Amino acid sequence: MGPLQNLEQWDDFVGQRYKPNKDQEEFRKYDDTTPAGVREFYRLNHTHQTVDFVRAKKQQYLAKQRGKMNIWEALDYLNTLVDESDPDTDLSQIEHNLQTAEAIRRDGHPEWFVLAGFIHDLGKLLCLYGEPQWAVVGDTFPVGCAYSDKIVFHEFFRDNPDSNVPQYRTRLGIYEEGCGLDKVDLSWGHDEYLYHVVKDYLPEPALYMIRYHSFYPGHREGAYDYLLNEHDREMFEWVRKFNPYDLYSKGAERPKLEQLRPYYADLVSRYFPDPISW
Ligand code: FE
Ligand code: FE
Repeated sequence: MGPLQNLEQWDDFVGQRYKPNKDQEEFRKYDDTTPAGVREFYRLNHTHQTVDFVRAKKQQYLAKQRGKMNIWEALDYLNTLVDESDPDTDLSQIEHNLQTAEAIRRDGHPEWFVLAGFIHDLGKLLCLYGEPQWAVVGDTFPVGCAYSDKIVFHEFFRDNPDSNVPQYRTRLGIYEEGCGLDKVDLSWGHDEYLYHVVKDYLPEPALYMIRYHSFYPGHREGAYDYLLNEHDREMFEWVRKFNPYDLYSKGAERPKLEQLRPYYADLVSRYFPDPISW
């Protein structure tokens, strides 16, 4: 439980913020029109995502000692994440992943791109491990250097203890110019966790989509370009290609998993061993 009615409330908020054809004027208005729960969610996220917190979570999870599951078991497990507070949510976690993947498939993209869509939010399992919403979803951002004013609700960083650490307040902070994002700690959430679970099995553009899809300050706002290297910039083209499918594939029609299962079972089995470590 947390301030959000469910994890999708954050995704929906981002989708609204980046709605196509929205004018700049409307963009700035998010401040007054944001539901109180979403504001509170960002306040908690921006207050508690510190360098120490991110490092502790990486210590805790990147050794992948939560057990072994195959991709299907992970999807089924994620689907047990139901929102008692929001009985109207008719889209399960599997369905969002499936709609994203199906939209990518309809546009004729490579199968690894479809697969990336199919699994991209599996990192939300963190919620079932007991992590609070602010440590699972939310726009991600680098910790350990100055916060960009392009980060939504950046005023809430005021209460982040890192704001009082001089070393973390400069443009580069603890990083070097152009060091590459792999050397940068982003705020902790479902992107980074899943990246580490799947990194041995997917082509690099798919891994970038998974690892950076919530890094809106970077891929949508162009912030922190000075931390990226040339390779990151090339790969970000793929992250930007992926983003509209994530934000705008929610259809009225519910995808029929049983019909689609053979296609996805085949696809998953060609990339992933069974089981993998989580
Ligand atoms: Fe996501
Ligand atoms: Fe998503």
